[in-house]
Amino acid sequence: MPDVIIMGGGPAGISAALYTARAGLATLILASGAGALEKADQIENYYGFAEPVSGKQLLENGIAQAKRLGVQVLNEEVVGLSYDGEFLISTKQNTYRAPFAVMATGASRKAPKIPGLAEFEGKGVSYCAVCDGFFYRKKPVAVLGAGDYAMHEASELLPIASSVTILTDGKEPQAAFPKEMTVKTEKIAKLSGGAAVQGVQFEDGTELAAAGLFVAVGVAGSADLARKVGAQVDGVSVAVDNKRRTNVPGLYAAGDCTGGLLQISKAVCDGALAGTDVIKEFRKRAASAKA
Ligand SMILES: Cc1cc2nc3c(=O)[nH]c(=O)nc-3n(C[C@H](O)[C@H](O)[C@H](O)COP(=O)(O)OP(=O)(O)OC[C@H]3O[C@@H](n4cnc5c(N)ncnc54)[C@H](O)[C@@H]3O)c2cc1C
Repeated sequence: MPDVIIMGGGPAGISAALYTARAGLATLILASGAGALEKADQIENYYGFAEPVSGKQLLENGIAQAKRLGVQVLNEEVVGLSYDGEFLISTKQNTYRAPFAVMATGASRKAPKIPGLAEFEGKGVSYCAVCDGFFYRKKPVAVLGAGDYAMHEASELLPIASSVTILTDGKEPQAAFPKEMTVKTEKIAKLSGGAAVQGVQFEDGTELAAAGLFVAVGVAGSADLARKVGAQVDGVSVAVDNKRRTNVPGLYAAGDCTGGLLQISKAVCDGALAGTDVIKEFRKRAASAKA
């Protein structure tokens, strides 16, 4: 079992891993999906490069550096996070367990601009199946998304809700949704309802009755994952203190997912702060277990 699992392999995640691995903690990075760094063409404002460096090159260097120090780096998308005394982190392929976890999945993607989505937030629109699924027992629900994260959220809802419909909003399904889930690929026009969501209207004029809509578009961001274990979220960012600790003991967040200056230097600093605090807490727990 790793001592710490880091979700995200960008500058924040790699920076945290460099510290924890060099301190002797078994460190696992789970990274998949597009990070911001690989989109950066020419970087001129990061310390130590006389000539511009591409984000792709910087990213490859960081991963090679972490691997050289013994960090295990797996290309797996995180879809679930829970806590039972340790963190359980699920990907499509596996579930991993560790006493410490760092979220470093980059800036949250914006929710799609569907009329009614923002207005019905908390009144039928949810971003966390494990948190809110209970409110929809024996009621029809829909999940907005087309990939593995949507599948994960829909699987949480299947035993609770009366029916689960996947809404891809015009996209091709990216996951193999089981037959218990109806998949609708029509473009969505708007959400309908009064005090709360009652259904979804499609651009082709058809409608679907739904008491709840769970948003799971693209890959899970740190704010989505944070909500699943009750960590405080501030808008689209994960709330952290000056050591990059969330309000859940043992859970940290670093880099763009915590908001503020969305730059490599800040992500690297955040990772270093989270990594060094993980080391301190790990040693403290080890010492008290011995005593
Ligand atoms: C076009 C562009 C140009 C930029 N130019 C500059 C610049 O010149 N200088 C500068 O300082 N900054 C620049 N930035 C910003 C910089 O890239 C970011 O601030 C930095 O990369 C943030 O690092 P991060 O580790 O927090 O997130 P990211 O680099 O976004 O890394 C996130 C990581 O999380 C992984 N991930 C996401 N979701 C999941 C999931 N569910 N499961 C598993 N893994 C997941 C991704 O694969 C990735 O490894 C630029 C950004 C862009 C988009």
